[in-house]
Amino acid sequence: MNIEKNRVVEIDYRLTDGDGELIEDTADSQPMHYLHGHGNILAALERALEGRAAGDSVEVSIPPESGFGYRDEGRVQRIPIKHLRYDGRLVPGKVATVNTREGPRQVVVLKVGRFNVDADFNHPFAGLTLNFAVNVVNVREASAEELDHGHAHGPGGHEHR
Ligand code: ZN
Repeated sequence: MNIEKNRVVEIDYRLTDGDGELIEDTADSQPMHYLHGHGNILAALERALEGRAAGDSVEVSIPPESGFGYRDEGRVQRIPIKHLRYDGRLVPGKVATVNTREGPRQVVVLKVGRFNVDADFNHPFAGLTLNFAVNVVNVREASAEELDHGHAHGPGGHEHR
């Protein structure tokens, strides 16, 4: 069965950046399931997987403009520590949550002062070339419920609580 719209695809992948640094490896977690053709993964990755089948290996290099865009230094903002939610110690590199008008946003803390931090609102993958080495594990028809929800259910997919 080939990968096409309205099918649930299970993939293993290894993601490295333009310098070959490992970003993510599903071997350390679990395979990913997604509903093809519904914008649940990067469009460039979806295009590369279109028409492939279980057992296929696909390598695709996605430049920032097709990935998560470029870094914008204007999106680094100084904000009061009291507006941050985080666990443990507040140190540079820490991922924290900030409530914004558009809802909670994850930020990376760049600099910690006494009352304020410099928080980076850029996507963590902004500015990176994303090199995906993907193995297609399984392809199946989506259930009516999955189509209705617009995402895959079950292990590695979306869980309802
Ligand atoms: Zn659902």
